[in-house]
Amino acid sequence: MKKLLALVLTGVLGVSVLTACGSSSSAPSAAAETASTEVAAASTETETASASGSALDKDTLIIGTNAAFPPFEYAGDDGTPAGFDVDLINAIGEKLGKKVEVKDMEFDSLVASIGNKIDIAIAGMTVTEERQKMVDFSDPYYEAVQNVIVVNGSEIASADDLKNKKIGVQLGTTGDFIASDIEGSEVSQYNKAVDAVNDLLNGRVDCVIIDANPAQEFVSQHAEELTALEGTQFGFETENYAIAMPKGDAALVEAVNQALKELKEDGTFDKLVAENITGE
Ligand code: GLN
Repeated sequence: MKKLLALVLTGVLGVSVLTACGSSSSAPSAAAETASTEVAAASTETETASASGSALDKDTLIIGTNAAFPPFEYAGDDGTPAGFDVDLINAIGEKLGKKVEVKDMEFDSLVASIGNKIDIAIAGMTVTEERQKMVDFSDPYYEAVQNVIVVNGSEIASADDLKNKKIGVQLGTTGDFIASDIEGSEVSQYNKAVDAVNDLLNGRVDCVIIDANPAQEFVSQHAEELTALEGTQFGFETENYAIAMPKGDAALVEAVNQALKELKEDGTFDKLVAENITGE
């Protein structure tokens, strides 16, 4: 199950994550910090599912992601979101006969935006009990675990070593929740994981806790300086990524699950994993 190996990077992380709005957005290029405000403004003009109807009644599904989580999502060559999740949701849209419009948002605002600003979120999002109170999830599509990124030669090697440490995380992620539960931890939360990694390089934090695949991508950019340690060595549990949808939209959940199943059966899913994640 774990083919989470080093990935060939083609300058993906060198591309700054700019607006990356959906195709219908006319927002001009701007720094990522302002992008989400513009996205929010743009999406008020776009109809999303009403509380009663199903999002399936619409021709175009509005998808939220956070294009700063390679290889699942990142800003592609033209600045719009690209990556495994984007390919997957496009393939699902095709199966459902729907157009999809993918918007770049801050990870921490995705769950609250489902059912109003967006219809669906796909963002390497782990199924958690807390999130399940607010949204419904598809069947899981990917198994993951948190990694601990450290500088080469760091003493950090076990759960005990994480106590009383300065830990960098991406705000609102499972890495954030884990770090906050560690005894004596001083957690620095960033909107973008890459900024946490930069602060690790600058010595402002002792380690970064983040999902395995992005961890490996970030580390491969700084192999001389950084190492990604397997979360199992710290007792972290495996997590499941799933697609988040409005709570109670059973028709949508069922259709998405059916599409996922078909994509697994017809080999498309494995092809996307090979193209985006394992590098074949
Ligand atoms: N899997 C993590 C979570 O769901 C991180 C996701 C992300 O940063 N895109 O919290």
